[in-house]
Amino acid sequence: MQTLQTYRKKRDFLKTKEPKGKSFQKTKKVKKLIFVVQKHWAKNLHYDFRIQIGRSLRSWAVPKGMPKKNGDKRLAVLTENHPLEYAKFEGTIPEGQYGAGKVKIVDFGFFENIKKDKNKKEISLSKSFKSGQVEVFLKGSKIKGPYALIRYKDEKTWLLIKMKKIKS
Ligand code: MN
Repeated sequence: MQTLQTYRKKRDFLKTKEPKGKSFQKTKKVKKLIFVVQKHWAKNLHYDFRIQIGRSLRSWAVPKGMPKKNGDKRLAVLTENHPLEYAKFEGTIPEGQYGAGKVKIVDFGFFENIKKDKNKKEISLSKSFKSGQVEVFLKGSKIKGPYALIRYKDEKTWLLIKMKKIKS
């Protein structure tokens, strides 16, 4: 499901300045896909890693932040879809609201889907998300390179892995 239902249900937009997101964004064929990493001082400090799949941001909470060295793995917990506009959000979610605390953008940029099948044909992002094996090449100003997201236990439990350089 690509909807923002869960996202909206959790929030009171009269109280939080987070974007509500447009219901049916009539986007042109998207050429560039966006990602963002946000530092979030919620009850437990964590980082939110979000990548655009279709018309929303698939989101994972990463307690320890982005893996730094090749081969490093970090726990990433799948959270609800966020609207695309969220990639620009910084501010403080008020006390008593879902995710209360400060949000700051660590890095923002474009990315490429690099997941290929055996015949080196690209597998779509939504397909690789469904199969629990996403591979992206991030082109942020600080965060660059190939990363994999692998679902390994249940629907919500993923690993975020910094991949070794890939041959193109
Ligand atoms: Mn968060």
